[in-house]
Amino acid sequence: MPKPILKFAVLAGDYIGPEVMAEALRVLDHVARLEGLVLSHQAADVGGAGIDRHGQALPESTLRVCEQADAILFGSVGGPKWEKLPPKEQPERAALLPLRRHFTLFANIRPGLLYRELTDASPLKSERIPDGIDIVCIRELTGGLYFGKPKETTTLPDGDVQAVDTMVYKKSEIERILQVAITTARARKRKLCSVDKANVLETSVLWRKTVTDYCAAHAPDLALSHMYVDNAAMQLARDPNQFDVFVTENMFGDILSDEMAVICGSLGMLSSASLGAGKNSLGLPFGLYEPAGGTAPDIAGKGIANPCAQILSVALMLRHSFGLETTATRLEAAVKKAVTSGTRTGDIAFGRPSVGTRAMADAVIANL
Ligand code: NAD
Repeated sequence: MPKPILKFAVLAGDYIGPEVMAEALRVLDHVARLEGLVLSHQAADVGGAGIDRHGQALPESTLRVCEQADAILFGSVGGPKWEKLPPKEQPERAALLPLRRHFTLFANIRPGLLYRELTDASPLKSERIPDGIDIVCIRELTGGLYFGKPKETTTLPDGDVQAVDTMVYKKSEIERILQVAITTARARKRKLCSVDKANVLETSVLWRKTVTDYCAAHAPDLALSHMYVDNAAMQLARDPNQFDVFVTENMFGDILSDEMAVICGSLGMLSSASLGAGKNSLGLPFGLYEPAGGTAPDIAGKGIANPCAQILSVALMLRHSFGLETTATRLEAAVKKAVTSGTRTGDIAFGRPSVGTRAMADAVIANL
């Protein structure tokens, strides 16, 4: 079968964004040479770089580049240089949210991965995670409280001020994210936990009923469980590996996925995929792939940022938007081998000698 042309947009962003992106692309070049893949990527400005060069965090020209691609490889945006701008113009809000909306990126897949050799990086006691952590959070990304209307602040007749956010979910939106969760669970241990607040919220009552009915009809092979979100937050800190895949609505997922990132140690190792409702030219999900962390201004320009999260984002892109499961697994294995055999950037070195961004990528290449 002819290998597909990998057509993707490269939005490196700000501070460490371009540093880790350059290394991730160098690693991907190497993978492409090994596997006879054809790369066709186009870079465009986003975030602070977009503001500085085009006056907008998400310039029209950047959006066009993304529309013509089959996936977006994203770095990260924002930082002190732009923090005095009004909130609506801040790089993160003015670039990422419109991208999510424009491409209906409804499914956020966040692997919570901590290798056994890096358990020291976790704030959890090592005896709670003797084999590290390996779980996945599936967060609904375009519904719920963050997008529901009305969303407004009003002054009441008596002079008091009232603010309203609206939490709203349709059955179809719940089924859509559930399909992603089911596919993810089937590729792992066939274990799925749905997280909600069905003892209090109407949306959660619908969520739980929809999940129960849909799984009974379409995924009876999965071990399905339900958990209230407050309990899930505690269980993640107590025994994260009791989950394998968990699925939840937007705000709960925002909070739980950040808790998951903390227990997994360095942000430099965590990647994420946001899959769209639309298909790309290959008939696969269009998606945006990015590290879980931000632009790390504290270490930018020093050549010491960990490129692994960006490299692992490439692996997610190969898997989900290009259907290259074996290549994705090979790349993930190379990152794991490089790190567990002792090549570490400062964020995961724990007092041992550390290497810079480029040398870390070299070690991944050597282990491919
Ligand atoms: P951050 O994630 O940038 O950094 C938090 C800590 O993690 C820092 O100590 C940093 O050095 C470290 N870190 C993060 N990535 C690393 C890597 N690859 N290698 C080694 N260490 C790494 O969070 P912050 O400092 O709160 O945010 C900085 C800027 O990034 C802010 O402007 C924020 O708005 C933005 N941000 C952007 C995104 C995004 O683009 N998706 C996400 C989060 C934060």
